[in-house]
Amino acid sequence: MGETIPNWLLQRAYLTPNRTALVFENQSWSFYQMTEIVMDMAFSLHSLELSQSNTVAVLMKNRPETVWVIHALQQIGVKTVFLNHRLTASELTFQIKDSGAEVIIYDGDFLQTVEKILSLYKIQAFTVDEINRFDKKELTETEFSLDRVCSIMYTSGTTGKPKGVMQTYGNHWWSAIGSSLNLGLQANDAWLCAVPIFHISGMSILMRSVIYGIPVYLMEQFDEKKANTLLQSGKITIMSAVSAMMNRMLAVLEDKTYHANFRCMLLGGGPAPRPLLEECLNKGIPVFQTYGMTETSSQIVTLSPEDSLKKIGSAGKPIFPSQIKVVSNSGQSLPNGEFGEITVKGPNVTIGYLNREKANEESFQDGWFSTGDLGHLDEEGFLYILDRRSDLIISGGENIYPAEIEEVLLEHDGVVEAGVTGVDDPIWGQVPYAFIVSKQVLSVEELFHFCHERLASYKVPKQIIQINELPRNGSNKLMRRNLIQYID
Ligand code: ATP
Ligand code: MG
Repeated sequence: MGETIPNWLLQRAYLTPNRTALVFENQSWSFYQMTEIVMDMAFSLHSLELSQSNTVAVLMKNRPETVWVIHALQQIGVKTVFLNHRLTASELTFQIKDSGAEVIIYDGDFLQTVEKILSLYKIQAFTVDEINRFDKKELTETEFSLDRVCSIMYTSGTTGKPKGVMQTYGNHWWSAIGSSLNLGLQANDAWLCAVPIFHISGMSILMRSVIYGIPVYLMEQFDEKKANTLLQSGKITIMSAVSAMMNRMLAVLEDKTYHANFRCMLLGGGPAPRPLLEECLNKGIPVFQTYGMTETSSQIVTLSPEDSLKKIGSAGKPIFPSQIKVVSNSGQSLPNGEFGEITVKGPNVTIGYLNREKANEESFQDGWFSTGDLGHLDEEGFLYILDRRSDLIISGGENIYPAEIEEVLLEHDGVVEAGVTGVDDPIWGQVPYAFIVSKQVLSVEELFHFCHERLASYKVPKQIIQINELPRNGSNKLMRRNLIQYID
């Protein structure tokens, strides 16, 4: 057994039992109360005689019971697979099989999905109510081993089939510590979790809550009006969001802003368009751009407050325990200013993908993990993310980054959403095509003109096609490779 730390839930309940752990709608629980509930559930689960070699899948919404289940599974030492409930039964069955899970714990709301899964794959399935009726068998795991796998979380599947990322207790621990060293930690901190718990963005908030001793305000479903009200109340100091959420919050914020206690809008998960960042700056919303992925157990690069004005558009610098390096195609470290693939290293980086020998071989070199994302560091070492390597368009030998064109299109008043992908071309190899969603029918001529004024001619899309909805995956991420289907 490698290095250990105290069981973080029991340690928290011991250190600060009366502090608030969780707030959901108009209920709240202290760490003491939460631990009582969790231990009771852990004793029930323990009667299933599962051990460290076992895996349990969780298909649940952002609700208090989900928080209890996650902690209870850590108490009995099994690995937890986080399932995205927006996926279909067959997508979920793939993840369940791939992870080797023997048990699935689910919300009653997903009974139909679970029935479909059970028709495809034999697995034990229980709701929380059923678990609570099991016989109880006591246990106490006083320590967590940092190198043991805690969770298995599948990547969003934006660039290919989702891969099961193994996250250790040490990964979560160092992710929480690293985040606090960059963002700071205050006595009045409270984190709003309106992102899914089944993603690392949500799960990492639960882990920070216990490690820091701060409350999580949990939202079952993101609601822009409720989120704005909470941020105006002074109760929340930090919120995690993706651009689409921020856009929706701004759309109903009118000329108001947030309470002075609100100190950090942690904005990540994908590129943050410059017009959005500028609007937040104008409204005095303290946005911290951040870059991270399932494989880095949440943030690995974050823009500190003192730099947010002068480095708009940058994802920032690495969290304290981690490092970043931009490398050439041959893996050579590149000087600041040059574009290449972003590689990362740190105690929050996964030990590898489950059952993916080839991906593991390709992704890890000398302790560095290749992210598949392209970018550069500026002269002061701030990271700018350009795009995903797999989405890069090479046209007549020139590199074209879809995100750059999408950002220009989004600057246009009438454009609500934009997606760009490369289409095969006999002369240029590939050319960019743009797909937009707009409030009303726009003049394509005018859009071409708009792009010509802002982009080098080889980057101007060869076609701009108006569609009703962009293709997105279960994580709401744009699937650029699926845009091709909208070409007539
Ligand atoms: P898959 O790996 O299966 O294709 P995915 O990469 O979308 O899916 P996640 O782990 O959820 O799965 O997302 C991480 C990715 O999101 C990063 O590798 C990066 O491409 C993108 N991303 C995250 N933060 C940012 C950011 N600040 N700017 C640009 N891109 C970002
Ligand atoms: Mg990825």
